[in-house]
Amino acid sequence: MKWNCPKCGREFSKQKQEHFCIKPQNIDEYIAAQAPAVQPKLREMRAILQTALPDAQERIAWMSPSSTRRRRSPSTCA
Ligand SMILES: [Zn+2]
Repeated sequence: MKWNCPKCGREFSKQKQEHFCIKPQNIDEYIAAQAPAVQPKLREMRAILQTALPDAQERIAWMSPSSTRRRRSPSTCA
């Protein structure tokens, strides 16, 4: 049964899945937002990715719709 977090809107396979209600801006945040069971595997993958593809972090950020939304208020970023 699927469950959508009412705060961040992310979809989970488990009711009340523990997670961080954040929009990931980089791989670290992306991994932290995943289920604890898969985090070690994701970290392993990230280590491989960072070695093979130094720009992989930016690609992950592009996948996130929030990266465009954040640009709406550039003054707060400075
Ligand atoms: Zn959430």
